[in-house]
Amino acid sequence: MFEREQMQALINTTVDGIISISADGRIQLFNAASEKLFGWKSEEVLGRNVSTLMPSHYADHHDRYLQNYLDSGIARIIGVGRQVQGQRKDGTIFPMDLSVGEFQAGGQRYFVGIVRDLTASIAENERLKTLQRQLEQSDRYSALKEIGAALAHELNQPLTAIDLFLVAAERSLDSDTARARELFTRVRQEATRAGSIIKRIREMAEQHDSDPSLFRPQQAIQSAVDLCLSTESRKVELAITPFEDTDLLGDETQLRMILVNLIKNALDATSGQTERRIEIRVRPDDPFTVDVVDNGPGVPDSLAPQLFEPFTSTKSHGLGIGLSICRTMAEHSHGNLYYLPPAEQTRSLGGACFRLELPRRRA
Ligand code: ADP
Repeated sequence: MFEREQMQALINTTVDGIISISADGRIQLFNAASEKLFGWKSEEVLGRNVSTLMPSHYADHHDRYLQNYLDSGIARIIGVGRQVQGQRKDGTIFPMDLSVGEFQAGGQRYFVGIVRDLTASIAENERLKTLQRQLEQSDRYSALKEIGAALAHELNQPLTAIDLFLVAAERSLDSDTARARELFTRVRQEATRAGSIIKRIREMAEQHDSDPSLFRPQQAIQSAVDLCLSTESRKVELAITPFEDTDLLGDETQLRMILVNLIKNALDATSGQTERRIEIRVRPDDPFTVDVVDNGPGVPDSLAPQLFEPFTSTKSHGLGIGLSICRTMAEHSHGNLYYLPPAEQTRSLGGACFRLELPRRRA
């Protein structure tokens, strides 16, 4: 059994405030932690109404609560514990956790309250909430930045093409009107393409699935190749392995955008070779597979794991977001895009191979 002295020591060394009151609300016990918490000395508060320790809006009701409980036995706080406000001697109000128990001694009812200052933990909670809000904001901000960079990157292609086609059309306007007309048609196609790129990126940003439609991949692949070659001044041997053109249910613009990115990367990669070779190998199976293979220097082992991370680029003017956007688009169509090192390629040209797989979904 604890001796009275031991009990006293225990009460006075505990870190929580312990306050006991009689049934009429007068303070009977006020331990050392309570003194620290409320700024009152024990002898100053003993015998005073416990409402001394509460802000006035609580204090006004406390006697009534206590009386109601004594009359009805319906407790709002006994045995539950809740967050309330305390008031220090200097008048400052602070949040505290209060749990109340009840006991009887010498035929009298007493209540004992254990109080803990919540100021620090509430401040910590607030700090965490603020941090989380900031994190969400910066997530949104970086997503916006990525979308902005993606738009710039993707729109650059059709805009450059429009510029080139217009210059060429202007030149042939007098001498070769048929050619000029043909070039104007291409300008219109590129403008339409720019529009669908904006639509696609907006859909990606909104994470909506676009409605898949039936299209012939041959045409998308050919137009991606044409577009890439239209801005290429150096000779390159670019072959599309013949395949049986079948209907593919998906998104033609996305397929074209991915291929333009892959072919442009292959053109960049082979720029240092005397004989530049790029092959586009198509297998119209399920999944529908397109390999873009080149005879460039390939991807260094150290770079391979980061290829699809945004802003990974070894080019002086590269944004390094092409591959990451292409992979997102492929995954958006429930497909995949990955890099195959020469050792894993069946007929390697010595350089890189990027494989795009799209499921042959049927209507
Ligand atoms: P960017 O072309 O703007 O650099 P990408 O995301 O398209 O961005 O490509 C990232 C990097 O991957 C390139 O900078 C390059 O180092 C590497 N890479 C992409 N394609 C090839 C390839 N065919 N051969 C060698 N390296 C490549």
